[in-house]
Amino acid sequence: MTDQPLKLFNSLTREIETFTPVHEGEARVYTCGPTVYNYPHIGNMRAYVFADVLGRTLSWKGYDLTHIINITDVGHLTDDGDAGEDKMEKMAAQKAQSIWDIAKHYTEAFWADVKALNIREPAKWSVATDYIDEMIEFAKGIADRHCYELDSGLYFDVSTVADYGRLARAVTEEGEGRIETVEGKRNAADFAIWRKTPAGETRQMEWDSPWGKGAPGWHLECSVMGEKLLGFPFDIHTGGIDHREIHHPNEIAQNQAFCGCAPDPGGLDDATHSGAKIWMHNNFLVERSGKMSKSSGEFLRLQLLIDKGYHPLAYRMMCLQAHYRSELEFSWEGLGAALTRLKRIVMSAAALADAAPGDASHQKFAPMREKFATAISDDLNTAVALVALEEALAVKKVDAGVKRAVVGEMDRVLGLGLFDLTRAALRIRPRDAFIAEAEIEAELVRRKEARVAKDFATSDAIRESLAAKGVEVMDGDPLGWEWKL
Ligand code: AMP
Ligand code: ZN
Repeated sequence: MTDQPLKLFNSLTREIETFTPVHEGEARVYTCGPTVYNYPHIGNMRAYVFADVLGRTLSWKGYDLTHIINITDVGHLTDDGDAGEDKMEKMAAQKAQSIWDIAKHYTEAFWADVKALNIREPAKWSVATDYIDEMIEFAKGIADRHCYELDSGLYFDVSTVADYGRLARAVTEEGEGRIETVEGKRNAADFAIWRKTPAGETRQMEWDSPWGKGAPGWHLECSVMGEKLLGFPFDIHTGGIDHREIHHPNEIAQNQAFCGCAPDPGGLDDATHSGAKIWMHNNFLVERSGKMSKSSGEFLRLQLLIDKGYHPLAYRMMCLQAHYRSELEFSWEGLGAALTRLKRIVMSAAALADAAPGDASHQKFAPMREKFATAISDDLNTAVALVALEEALAVKKVDAGVKRAVVGEMDRVLGLGLFDLTRAALRIRPRDAFIAEAEIEAELVRRKEARVAKDFATSDAIRESLAAKGVEVMDGDPLGWEWKL
């Protein structure tokens, strides 16, 4: 089932391509990580669920996977280009804390979400500030031919590389949001690869460099960590779709410069000049009111979902139900539906939990395994793969061990961790619920007794008093849930 060719959509060519590894038998993947100045919102986490499914798929196909996810703890400005302040410096000033403490706190919060969503640990979490020397070396190597110095920093001249901006499909001079006010830039799209600390200021994070005290540009970080840890060209570079516009075109320009394949005819018709063979981008999770943000309204953190009584894997389920290249609209109803679907799957998987895994190649499951493999191999169509999983669970009169093996294999790719979940674990008490679970259970026992005794007045009274405390009694629920909050 794993031998179908893996087809992936390459944002650089805007085409579906067959994955062929740079290094025989290996897959090397770089994923742009979070900027740790605040908690990640669940939209950010969609990017890592997507990268995780990609990584799991490559492992399942038998490639020896090296996955790098970075942690950006310096250099990302409040604007993706060169305007604004460093996000980390700004938050540290606001909270009157050291940047290092801020970075530590939010990195750990991010890792907690990663764990809760069953996102596998990458081979390495590369932390940007651990690579400052390498960044300076990289910049020195390309400075003469591709950069110029201004008072504010060292700038990359985008006219020195062929096909600049191809990934964004943007016209260099008119690209959206990129006309910035830095005095002296040669082209509007030129960007800082080193930002000097303004005279008379000190920053919490600054390092000496040939261009004066300062900090690296955000785009430089990912070029350097990708090159150092995976080598150019590596196989796949991923990120959210916003990175297709500025961050990744700028990384690509630096990579072209570094490889010495910048000028024509060395342009991007050969994708490997970009540093990676395939560039992949997940689409956004959006709120009805528009783009998700960390500042507007109720900040949609994974913890908020948990506080409201939704198991975090219901959110993973929600992501899997959509194709990663489609926009996904968040709603509480949608999340509730994903949780119900997950409960159903977990309940049917529970019947298999004790069976010793058998031989997955049993012919009864051939159609579902074929459907699953075709879907995943078709640019990670998890929505259809989930249906194949449900169909496999529904197969009747078959050895439990065989079914377990089939379901287990599919779950290794989807990452729901079905055999580690129980129906009870999926029920999370909303944080503001003001009635204890034991009390609910005791009331329900009392109600059952009343009903057996045909004392419907008492039974109804108990039902109503529970309702007043926010508990809905669910007689005849098809999933066998007796109550919900
Ligand atoms: P940041 O911490 O801002 O660098 O973002 C971390 C990752 O989340 C990046 O890959 C972004 O492209 C991605 N991202 C940001 N907002 C969303 C969203 N609403 N939906 C999906 N991905 C997002
Ligand atoms: Zn990046």
